[in-house]
Amino acid sequence: MKYNFGAGHPMAPVRLELTVRLATELGLLAAPDVHVVDHGIASDATLTLVHEPAYVAAVHAASDDGVEDVRRGLGTEDDPIFAGMHDAAARIVAGTDGVAQAVWEGRATHGVNVAGGMHHAMPGGAAGFCVYNDAAVAIAGLLAAGAQRVAYIDVDAHHGDGVEAAFWDDPRVLTVSVHQSGATLFPGTGHASDTGGPEAHGSAVNVALPVRTSASGWLRAVDAVLPEAVRAFAPEIIVSQHGCDAHGKDPLSDLDVAVDAQRQVATWVHDLAHEVCGGKWVALGGGGYAVIDVVPLVWCHVLAIAQHRGISPLAPVPPAWRLHVREVLDHEPPELMSDVAGEVRYVPWQTGYDPEDAVDRAIRATRQAAFPLLGVDVSADL
Ligand SMILES: [Zn+2]
Ligand SMILES: [Zn+2]
Repeated sequence: MKYNFGAGHPMAPVRLELTVRLATELGLLAAPDVHVVDHGIASDATLTLVHEPAYVAAVHAASDDGVEDVRRGLGTEDDPIFAGMHDAAARIVAGTDGVAQAVWEGRATHGVNVAGGMHHAMPGGAAGFCVYNDAAVAIAGLLAAGAQRVAYIDVDAHHGDGVEAAFWDDPRVLTVSVHQSGATLFPGTGHASDTGGPEAHGSAVNVALPVRTSASGWLRAVDAVLPEAVRAFAPEIIVSQHGCDAHGKDPLSDLDVAVDAQRQVATWVHDLAHEVCGGKWVALGGGGYAVIDVVPLVWCHVLAIAQHRGISPLAPVPPAWRLHVREVLDHEPPELMSDVAGEVRYVPWQTGYDPEDAVDRAIRATRQAAFPLLGVDVSADL
C-alpha cells in the first residue's frame, strides 16, 4: 500500500486494498491450506541479481533524500519519486521472490503476489510505473537455486519488456508476452519478430495484437500460442503476470478483454503448470487501472484458481464489498464475478486462418517467427 506515486497517478494503491478486501469477503485468505506470508523487504544483494548496483543506489537516494535521476527513470511523469520508494518497491520483490522460492522448494504448490508483476522495470532504470522488476528478480533467484528452465507468461495489455530484456539472451528463460502492439501502445516493443538474443533463439515469444481485440479474439490468440510454446519449452516452473489492463474499461489500453476471458486464461496457465511442471506456478498481478470494476475481480479469480476453489463467473459479488464500494468510493459496484453472461466463447486457431482478420495475422506472425525456433511444426498453418 506504500507503493504510492501520489494522487492522480493511475497505479493507485486502492486497487490492492479492494482486491484484498474482496478476497477476504470471498474467504480466499482464511482457508487452512492458504498461508499469507510477509517476506519483508528484498536485500540489495537480491535486487542486484537483475538490477545494476548504481540503479539500486539511485533508488535509495530518491527514496531517502529526494534525489531525482531522470536518466534512470526516477522523477518522471510515469515514475515520480516518493519517500520510502525503495522499501515499498523492494517489499514487492521480496513477496514474489519468497513465493517463488517456496514453490521451487515444494513448501507451497502455488504462490500468488497480487502486488507483483512490475514487468517494465529495467536492469538500469524505472519505467512504466515499475521501480524494481519483481518477476525478473524472482526468476533470477530460481536460476540461482538451480532451475534450468523457467517459463514467464505475461498477459498484461503492455509488452513485458523488462522481463524479456533481463533474459533476452538466456536460453534458460522463455518469455511469452501477449499484448497490444507496440505500434499503438507503450512501451513500443514486443514484435512477433523479436524471438530472443543470439544465444537464446526462440526464448522470446511475442503476440502483438491490434487495437480493439475482443475477448474471444484474445482467447483465440492466447490459445494459439501459449500451450504449444510452453509444452515445447518444457519448463520446470511457470511465473505468470496477470495484469488486467486489457479490459475494455481500462483507461490505459485499447483492447476489449472481458473479466471472464482473463479468468479463463488464468485457469489455462494453472492447468499448464500441472501438465508440464508438476504444478509449480507463481502468479502475479501487474497493470490494471479499472480499479473497482476489473482489478479486484480478475485477481480474486487468480487467487481462487491457485487454491483450487475456482469461482463461477456468475457468482454474486459479496454484499459487504459492494456496500463498501458504494459508500466509500461512491461507485456502483459490479454485481457478479464476471461482466458477460456466462463464459466467453472463442473459435480455436486450428479451424483455419483468416487473412482478413488482424488478430489472425498477429497470431500467424508469432507462430511463423517463434515456433520453428522452439521445434514446433507450423507447416499446417500455411
Ligand atoms: Zn493447482
Ligand atoms: Zn500494463
